[in-house]
Amino acid sequence: MAHPFLDLAPLTAAHFASIEDRVARLLSTEQDVVIMQGEALLPLEGAIRGTAGPGTTALNVITGPYGQTFGDWLRDCGATVIDLAVPFHTAVTAEQIREAFAEHPEIDFVSLVHAEAATGNTNPVAEIGEVVRERGALFYLDAVASVGAEPVLPDAWGVDLCVIGAQKAMGGPAGVSAVSVSERAWARMAANPGAPRRSYLSLLDWKERWIDGGRKVLPHAPAQLEMLALEACVARIEADGLDAVMTRHASAAAATRAGAVALGGGLEPYVYEAVDAAPVATTLRAPSAVVASELVARAVAADPGVPLAAGGGALAKEMIRVNHYGVDATRGAVRASLSALGGALREKGLGVDVEGALRAVEGAWR
Ligand SMILES: *Cc1c(COP(=O)(O)O)cnc(C)c1O
Repeated sequence: MAHPFLDLAPLTAAHFASIEDRVARLLSTEQDVVIMQGEALLPLEGAIRGTAGPGTTALNVITGPYGQTFGDWLRDCGATVIDLAVPFHTAVTAEQIREAFAEHPEIDFVSLVHAEAATGNTNPVAEIGEVVRERGALFYLDAVASVGAEPVLPDAWGVDLCVIGAQKAMGGPAGVSAVSVSERAWARMAANPGAPRRSYLSLLDWKERWIDGGRKVLPHAPAQLEMLALEACVARIEADGLDAVMTRHASAAAATRAGAVALGGGLEPYVYEAVDAAPVATTLRAPSAVVASELVARAVAADPGVPLAAGGGALAKEMIRVNHYGVDATRGAVRASLSALGGALREKGLGVDVEGALRAVEGAWR
């Protein structure tokens, strides 16, 4: 019996290369794009271990949980790490990056998360990129939560290592990911004695065994099902239009924010300024008398389809996440999320205006 997932023909090198090319077009990049055979943490870790070492001084910007992880990897590689932590309710500014360089002119590597699905903020990468380029540092960017939700332009912004995954706004698979690599980043890796080689983490292996040979022979059997899913998801974005997909996410964020304010009951946008709020997901602050995770549990029990989650770890008490990405970047998902939250707040005895919230959603949708 034919099964959609089984007995697939092998994925050819040409097919694999064509998927890489489509991902490169999605990022408007001329750089090499390597599709890695694992979740986005694979290129995120591989790119740091490939380029950082004992001679590196890294400015590691922390605007959410991933920044913390990058700092740990950098330290593990022997790099000197300068952490720049920014409260989760805001974004880092280019001025803060400029000040860090003024204080530590030896910085030669900057790691940054573009948008944070976990904390709901987004950082001004274009402006930060100008500062990083002026200083000649290598620029590493985690764009997993931004790609598909807002512009991600590694070439225009001077990003040397731009990592994406398909599982958020692209609505694709989680099991493969991609990184664009600049010439400067390749040179840094080639000169780094600690860069992984003959390792699953190694980007240099892909360069030497795949790219330099003209992408004719795959180094090992690719994760075929995930590659096909990635191709399908990029094809769908091409058909819908990347701008239309990003507009849906921006609308969902604006509508969720406006709707939450109109809902009342003590609910507030977690990220203070709308310009710092990520299009991929909106975080809300629960009223002080209410535990966010309990409120989310009640809302999800009432309507199991809503894309709501509580913040991770210590944030579970105060943060509500509306994960309006991918298939949930719709008016329907935003309306349902606010209605369910309204119902849960009302159960707690708080006064809410669900009708007003739904009107605000309509008003804010672009
Ligand atoms: C989702 C996400 C990742 C990927 O990590 P998972 O927790 O495995 O989904 C990486 N970086 C950022 C900023 C993300 O939002």
